[in-house]
Amino acid sequence: MALTLPAHPDALAEHVHASGLLSELAHGLGGPFHYLLPERFDANLAAFRAALADADVEGRVYYAKKANKAAVFVDRCAAAGAGVDVASLGELREALGHGVRGEDLVVTGPAKSEELLRVAARQGALIAVDALDELDRLIAVGGHRPVRVLLRRHPSAQPRSRFGLDDEQLHEALRRCAAAGERVRMEGFGFHLSGYEVGPRADLAGELVELCLKARVLGLQADRISIGGGFPVDYVPAEAWNAFLAEQGPAHYHAEKAFTASDFYPYHSPVAGADALRAILAASPGGQGPSLAKRLREAGVMLLLEPGRALLDGAGSSVFRIQGVKDRAGYGIATVDGTSLSLSEQWFNSEYLPEPVLLTERDGDAEVPYPACVGGASCLDSDLLTWRKVVFPTRPQVGDLLVYPNTAGYQMDSNESPFHELPLPPKVVIDRIDGAGRPRWRLDR
Ligand SMILES: *Cc1c(COP(=O)(O)O)cnc(C)c1O
Repeated sequence: MALTLPAHPDALAEHVHASGLLSELAHGLGGPFHYLLPERFDANLAAFRAALADADVEGRVYYAKKANKAAVFVDRCAAAGAGVDVASLGELREALGHGVRGEDLVVTGPAKSEELLRVAARQGALIAVDALDELDRLIAVGGHRPVRVLLRRHPSAQPRSRFGLDDEQLHEALRRCAAAGERVRMEGFGFHLSGYEVGPRADLAGELVELCLKARVLGLQADRISIGGGFPVDYVPAEAWNAFLAEQGPAHYHAEKAFTASDFYPYHSPVAGADALRAILAASPGGQGPSLAKRLREAGVMLLLEPGRALLDGAGSSVFRIQGVKDRAGYGIATVDGTSLSLSEQWFNSEYLPEPVLLTERDGDAEVPYPACVGGASCLDSDLLTWRKVVFPTRPQVGDLLVYPNTAGYQMDSNESPFHELPLPPKVVIDRIDGAGRPRWRLDR
């Protein structure tokens, strides 16, 4: 009956947890908060770049900013000369304001606003065009310099996707780019697939390389492709994950809530992050012939990628304080001082499964395992941070801390809201351990 799904061990996080800093911060900040470990972001970025270098492929990494609103990650991009993928004027402003150059931005998203197109064009950003009317609007707002265009391909393998241009529209877009002459620099093609598989990404990338060659015949630059994001993150070990999927059922959740395996993010991935990029580069598009890396080299095509979640792997966790515990038949309901709006997965008819860690002052003698779900401090019956009856090593008590591990990718703030006029959890940056082993912190921004 007891299913456990702890995140991979993380020595740095454990050091922070053992340091006493988190209870200090919970006291000082007076509510839930997130802590960020930007050194992990740096390491993930370096790993993606190493994968490109090892495959001898010229490429560029653009951090998909929507995965976390913290400024520190954009700071790190600016410092490392990495690009940022933005999809709104606010994100664009943030990136520029933190020192990322306009030409290091890629602007994605459907039917971009006039203002976003205008500012992006003036800044020399690369703009992923999603529709023909958007291309026309972009050309119209372009001014004294050529607008940099990437044409987003509608993926034939995901026919229900609302994004991108189909064959006919692509053909027409190329014609319009060529006709626009000096006003447009058509730099290539892009896609962003849902799901996390290697094969479809390599296949479509191979197709885009061919499209570049065709576009050059029209006199267009076409020397780069973007394969978007979707590099998986490996949160939990294989064995625990497989056992969990095999055994989980309504009895494991509060209110007998039912989930099927496909409701969950694939929390275990044997090939994740930069290794997934390595696999994509090593794969043969269409299942035969030279690898994608070789095709890119031979065609003189640069590879752009837009990882979000994978750059944030290990780069932060979310901390809540236990505000109350009550017993139900066979389990308990622990209520924390925040809401599930600070754990976004809970809003997609799904569940954030890597297990929260209980930091308690209770002494070891009192330890009797205690299963509990975790509720938020709101009036919504469905506001649960964890529907699952997690087996804690002891009964949580008021004042204990609950740390949700590895939440920097999408969990922290994409759904956050000051519901009930609760303050939004601040973000604490931990970017140094001092000589005495103390983690040093500051607020983000
Ligand atoms: C969301 C998004 C990404 C990032 O996806 P991840 O799964 O976080 O890597 C990249 N590109 C585009 C166009 C996106 O919409």
